[in-house]
Amino acid sequence: MDFEPFIRDIEDFPKPGVVFKDITPLLKDYQVLLKASDALCNMVADHAIDKVVGVDSRGFIFAPLIASRLQAGFVPVRKKGKLPFDTVSASYELEYGTDSLEIHTDAIMKGEKVLVHDDVLATGGTAKAVCELVEKLGGEVVQCNFLIHLTFLNGAQKLNGRKISTLLEY
Ligand code: IMP
Repeated sequence: MDFEPFIRDIEDFPKPGVVFKDITPLLKDYQVLLKASDALCNMVADHAIDKVVGVDSRGFIFAPLIASRLQAGFVPVRKKGKLPFDTVSASYELEYGTDSLEIHTDAIMKGEKVLVHDDVLATGGTAKAVCELVEKLGGEVVQCNFLIHLTFLNGAQKLNGRKISTLLEY
């Protein structure tokens, strides 16, 4: 299935000069939603995944769907200060300055196989920080999975040869 007609470009969002890829048209159609989750699961080479890590906030949409199909648990990575239990954190670069992402210390056990999922791979800073969090807890990132890869932003380079799969590339 071609998912591209269900991705909407929003110009100047969230600020002037940015063209935002809006995935909500893809989500609101049940058949397309189902096919997109199937396609995301089919791209996972190793199905012996223990945990699917979803990234705050649009990564939370598909990560639990993928996790349930792979019979894996779902783990949220959230922006600083949002998780209630003990956390470890990793910082990532914003256009101006840095911010950090957090994961619960008991979310992943040493040696567990982890699939990282987010909606969009842009500059790669977010996904890199998420991989670092998983690895701090002793997990193994076996693949990073995205709906959309904005290839012109070279995010894949930041992921240092980690296995990447995406439904759509721009
Ligand atoms: P990166 O750290 O530059 O790779 O940015 C990736 C993060 O920003 C992801 O968590 C995305 O949800 C978000 N993001 C960046 N660009 C877009 C977009 O065009 N549409 C939706 N989310 C985006």
